[in-house]
Amino acid sequence: MNYQKILFEIEEELKDFPNNGKIATYIPELSKVNPDKFGGYLYCVNGTHSSFGDAEERFSIQSISKTFGLSLAMLLKGDELWKRIDVEPSGSSYNSLYQLERENGIPRNPFINSGALVITDILLSEYDHPKDEILKFVRKISGVESIDFDESVAESEKLHGHRNAALAHLMKAFGNIHNDINTILDIYFYQCSLAMSCGELAKTFMLYANEGKILETNEEIMPPIKIQRINALMQTCGFYDEAGEFAFRVGLPGKSGVGGGIVAIHPEKYSAVVWSPKLNEKGNSLLGMEALERLTKKTGFSIF
Ligand code: GLU
Repeated sequence: MNYQKILFEIEEELKDFPNNGKIATYIPELSKVNPDKFGGYLYCVNGTHSSFGDAEERFSIQSISKTFGLSLAMLLKGDELWKRIDVEPSGSSYNSLYQLERENGIPRNPFINSGALVITDILLSEYDHPKDEILKFVRKISGVESIDFDESVAESEKLHGHRNAALAHLMKAFGNIHNDINTILDIYFYQCSLAMSCGELAKTFMLYANEGKILETNEEIMPPIKIQRINALMQTCGFYDEAGEFAFRVGLPGKSGVGGGIVAIHPEKYSAVVWSPKLNEKGNSLLGMEALERLTKKTGFSIF
């Protein structure tokens, strides 16, 4: 399969694609990004890779980072984790207070904000320095030591993160948050602020395409059963209220973020990442979804 040829074709086809998406502005720092950025990267299990456009430029990965927090929590905890967080698609917005109230402070899944906040609470109970552990994990599985948080994005979100604070307080009232709320929010905002390129993300997510092993060294970081479960959650819950649409159009597990990045993986084949900052109404990269749909159509590879 000539992935490079396919990626160039997709880039060419989408040059004049009508993109009426909108860049996220509710975190003011994110609105400074050039909305026309567009890049993609595909990393294969045989070690080859292909790319186009702005694939090497770092951007704010936002909710894609929830996969890393979840992975660490699943390494630390057994099935008791699922008493505090459910594994169902939310069917509502990623920061819904209403659903959380109705469901007694138990988040629908680890990828909506309330779920990611419970995960952060768990990391804070288990680690002395959770932010360092998150960085250590990403640097290890990507093999890129220079990956870091973007403090200006984290601080910008901190000033405007009232809804996340409300979610944490509501869960504390239900007894599902154990630690100090400001500390949890600080860690969560820093995790979301991780800046990575499509290439770095594609390499990192090979862990999830390669049964929990780092591709180059074959070192097992996570047992395959835990990887299977994370992939199942990405499939059913990775795209806000559009996980069904993504499964229907693209047919791969994945995770998106409001920075305009989307990661998709084909277990035992490849990881693919697209970045285009303009989002559709559901908060997913409009061009990113279009590009990945074309990828699975052209290759004929989807998990279905
Ligand atoms: N830091 C963002 C928030 O909490 C993440 C949103 C996202 O990418 O889905 O609102």
